Amino acid sequence: MADPDHSRSNELFERALRVTPGGVNSPVRAFGSVGGSPYFVASASGAFVTDADGNEYLDYVQSWGASILGHADPAVLDAVNRAAAKGTTYGAPTEGEVLLAETLVEAVPGCEQVRLVSSGTEATMTAVRLARGATGRSRVVKFAGCYHGHSDGLLAAGGSGVATLGLAGSEGVPAGAVADTIVAPYGVVPELGDDVACVIVEPVAANMGLVVPEPEYLARLRSACDAAGTLLIFDEVITGFRVARSGAAPLFGVQPDLWTFGKVIGGGLPLAALAGKVELMEHLAPVGSVYQAGTLSGNPLATAAGLAVLAQLDEGAYDSLAARVARLAQGLREAISSAGLEVQVPVFRTLLGIYFTDSPVENYDGAVRAASNGIYAPFFQAMLRRGVALAPSAYEVGFCSLAHSESDIDRTIETAAAAASEVAAAR
Ligand SMILES: *Cc1c(COP(=O)(O)O)cnc(C)c1O
Repeated sequence: MADPDHSRSNELFERALRVTPGGVNSPVRAFGSVGGSPYFVASASGAFVTDADGNEYLDYVQSWGASILGHADPAVLDAVNRAAAKGTTYGAPTEGEVLLAETLVEAVPGCEQVRLVSSGTEATMTAVRLARGATGRSRVVKFAGCYHGHSDGLLAAGGSGVATLGLAGSEGVPAGAVADTIVAPYGVVPELGDDVACVIVEPVAANMGLVVPEPEYLARLRSACDAAGTLLIFDEVITGFRVARSGAAPLFGVQPDLWTFGKVIGGGLPLAALAGKVELMEHLAPVGSVYQAGTLSGNPLATAAGLAVLAQLDEGAYDSLAARVARLAQGLREAISSAGLEVQVPVFRTLLGIYFTDSPVENYDGAVRAASNGIYAPFFQAMLRRGVALAPSAYEVGFCSLAHSESDIDRTIETAAAAASEVAAAR
């Protein structure tokens, strides 16, 4: 199959390489693990993005999950435009912040107070600081393959882009910054000493492909934390308002002490949050002595976009999205395996992963093993040439949006059949 024209994207990438490390402002965008160079997006609408050369892609990146309605949703654009006309940032509180916090508190059982920040990285970093401040303890337990943003202490075995680049952690992180980080295998309940401030976990792991925990795993983590006086943090930056309006926690019958949210709640603008019970949240400044702040925190454009998105996400929206994802997963399984490639397509409600391997992936080691056979990269390229954009990394999930129609799903499955045949024939 002939390559579509990428001359304008390639020219932009060459210019970008001169003025930006690796030509990108977030590493996985560079296509390092799948080869070739990235398409530069000129515009996007609904389920589609159009690149700088006019090629259109059916998009399963959807800003890495930030976009659940699809791109350029009219209600979101309208809300952002109306907000922008009133000024883009003030450095004083606004009604939008109150409304967004009220929306989160109402949607997520057990969540009483919210602090808005500008990125998931900030949310998890602050949640850990809060947990340390509230408990007076210093150690943090995280799980291999869970990504919690790029703060020093949480980068170890970080999944996502860290895994894509084949890094264990990062240069520039002093030993002291990770001395109190303990990394445990996902799916295992770690031993917790009385020096552990918090356990942070993705309740459904979505940065090493998709790993759905055993049904009782999160409840057992909860019990272990309770027994040790350790706080439990659910990093729902992906799962929050993605798998259900309540996030993942109630689906497992477990309440964490703190939640972090991001991606969907910002409606495609920079916004994230940490949340929890009043008693705990009040350790944050200005009430308590755990400091945290942000010039653009609760930005009025971002709260307007977030509110416009969350207003459209009722139970029916999640059911319909989950039905589309289930059909897509079933179609991908059949199409790819009929072409002669071994594949696992795990699903958790509205999230879907693709691993080219013969048995289910249960943890980071399994995800690394599945990614190491090198099938994802040519499959990604074969899909992209046919106009379907998956994430340029074997460690990401597929993000379907509410703008993906039944015929988009059908087309994706047909495209996957052709792409898988091409990949199988070349092996
Ligand atoms: C994306 C992500 C983050 C980091 O969010 P940013 O906004 O990219 O800083 C944290 N945790 C999880 C689970 C994520 O998927």
